[in-house]
Amino acid sequence: MNIRIIKLMVTVFFLSALVLWFSPQNASAAWFEPLKVHFLDVGQADSILIQTPNGKNVLVDAGDENDGPEITRYLQSQGVADIDVLVATHPHHDHIGSMDDVIRNFNVKKIYMPNLPYDTAYYHDLFKIINEKKIPVERAKAGVSFRFGFSVKMEMLAPRSSYYKYINDYSAVMKVTHGKNSFLLMADAGMESEKEMLSSKKDVRADVFKIGHHGANTGTTMAFLKAVHAKTAIISVGKNNPYHYPSKEVLYRLARRNMTTYRTDQLGVITAISNGKKITYRTNGFK
Ligand SMILES: [Zn+2]
Repeated sequence: MNIRIIKLMVTVFFLSALVLWFSPQNASAAWFEPLKVHFLDVGQADSILIQTPNGKNVLVDAGDENDGPEITRYLQSQGVADIDVLVATHPHHDHIGSMDDVIRNFNVKKIYMPNLPYDTAYYHDLFKIINEKKIPVERAKAGVSFRFGFSVKMEMLAPRSSYYKYINDYSAVMKVTHGKNSFLLMADAGMESEKEMLSSKKDVRADVFKIGHHGANTGTTMAFLKAVHAKTAIISVGKNNPYHYPSKEVLYRLARRNMTTYRTDQLGVITAISNGKKITYRTNGFK
């Protein structure tokens, strides 16, 4: 074979590799698929499903005691069979209440939770099923991070200490970044955790801010709101809840920041869809 033919063959090989790489099939497989963040409608509780462009599922919290059937139904409606990462942000019942049901109904690969043993029936039920299914449990703390494909990064910004006065401050706070878009998910973290994140100099900026502790006035301080600098606030909260969340003070601060606020008690499930540049919202309407 002479050198010209070899050169030609090499060129043809690289050109076809290039064409295959940019073919629509490959593109639809990962790069241009959206990231979806679903804020489930679980009343006075939290449950957030994140679906990445490369087909992975992350569930952050699993509602209260009776939310299992609704969470299961919703996840199945979104085609979820495997949960690649399950995060129990902290051991309060409105975050882990139905986690045992979720573990029973889906193939959970890994669980993250803060180091805070908790003597309640919910917590014991949860560990019973975790042990039965032999699911690895890792500690949720600042610095834990995951990458999903080229475009998605998730990082825990809190908890940053090993001891807190309030259990809510043990919450795993997660920042999800997809291209130019970002989400900050506070779970029930309050002032103490906010202060620590601010002094850590970590980049807390986000486009979408899932407000801490169902809008209670235990956090969402003006200093933190300014640092996050989000356009949109999401509040996961129950209709006519006995705590009167979200608090007037927090709503006032969100209004002063000119933020658009979406609430699960008014809109049901709220889904934020990111294409890496823009975020659009879908809800199942006013109830
Ligand atoms: Zn809560």
